[in-house]
Amino acid sequence: MKEIILAYQGEMTLKGLNRSKFEARLAKSIRYRLENLGKFKVSSSQSTVYIQPLEEDLDMEEAARRVSKVFGIVKLSRAACCDKDFDTICQTAEAYLGQTLRGIRTFKVEAKRADKQYPMKSPDICRELGAFLLSKHPHLRVNVHEPELEIMVEIREHGAYIHGPKTPGAGGLPVGTSGRALNLLSGGIDSPVAAWCMARRGLALHHIHFASPPYTSPRAKLKVRALARELSEYTGNCTLFVVPYTKPQEYIRDNAPDVLFTVLMRRSMLRIAAMVARKCELEALITGESLAQVASQTMAALVCTDAAQSLPVLRPCIGMDKNEIVALSRRIGTFETSIEPYEDCCTIFTPPHPKTRPSLDEIEAAEAGMPGLAELEQAAAENVERIPIHIGDDPEF
Ligand code: ATP
Ligand code: MG
Repeated sequence: MKEIILAYQGEMTLKGLNRSKFEARLAKSIRYRLENLGKFKVSSSQSTVYIQPLEEDLDMEEAARRVSKVFGIVKLSRAACCDKDFDTICQTAEAYLGQTLRGIRTFKVEAKRADKQYPMKSPDICRELGAFLLSKHPHLRVNVHEPELEIMVEIREHGAYIHGPKTPGAGGLPVGTSGRALNLLSGGIDSPVAAWCMARRGLALHHIHFASPPYTSPRAKLKVRALARELSEYTGNCTLFVVPYTKPQEYIRDNAPDVLFTVLMRRSMLRIAAMVARKCELEALITGESLAQVASQTMAALVCTDAAQSLPVLRPCIGMDKNEIVALSRRIGTFETSIEPYEDCCTIFTPPHPKTRPSLDEIEAAEAGMPGLAELEQAAAENVERIPIHIGDDPEF
């Protein structure tokens, strides 16, 4: 019996004239994600992507798991495929789902005919396949309202597909269809979620991390690398830029009023991130900031941060509660790594009482008193370390 994965396209089906571009991108993402698992044929028709193994014994469960993380797909199902001849459909349904049917009591058959030439109408298919399966499993009953198993039969152009319930996909739009951005990745809970949210809207992204050794440890860097790798299951391969941030950070500590330290540091980080982004032709920055979560994320502080440089700063977590961010972080699989206890550079040198309502005037005055900062920032941006992140990398953390 041949098994296939059917992946159903989401929002991109609304894309009108651009749709083929979205489809091509989606197929590319899927091929790329399955590359080291074996040979698959990936093709699209009628809002569905067909992912067909071309070798025996490929790990279809792992393939489905990977496809469920590709943005652009709302639902997917593993399905048996066969000729459209009705007897063959019955035999295939039994061979594919018989084992499952033995373990349950109620079921229902749903049919969908994309091939309108097919001689049987959907209700006939449901009734007759239902009757066939009942004859094989007399303990079963049909329950159309709350069946334990809903069996779908899809009659499509090139064949029939039989499967159980569809499982959720990652939704959104294929990565790379909405531009390119640079995500500021700390080791915390929020910034991986921010990256995921924006990749889901189709942004291709890379990450930048600020490290201040010896105040921050090599383990902190490894942790961020682990997060970038976990995210790569959604974003695809990318680069993690690690900025040697110790000197600018010490300079700010030593030359500015300590109540303004955090906002001054965040402006400095964004300026460096913008330099790296422009060099790599990335069009926006992403952060995990959430309004009023901490002193540096009050409205007044964000106004000051935004004025530091001119690339757009995307903040998808801005209106989320912490518990919503945590729930997302668990769902995407970064939470456990995020809560590992390694110091982030944002938490060193922070004053006990940072100003929650800094004004841009006082911030700019403080920066005027730090004439050496620009040069240190420039040097930090130039000496950035580039770490390639590959989906299949071994976890080292
Ligand atoms: P997170 O959970 O993402 O660490 P947070 O609530 O701890 O966020 P902050 O430490 O104020 O908040 O950081 C706000 C945002 O700034 C982060 O979400 C992240 O985008 C960015 N950021 C903070 N520290 C770093 C860092 N060391 N390297 C890169 N980006 C950082
Ligand atoms: Mg943080």
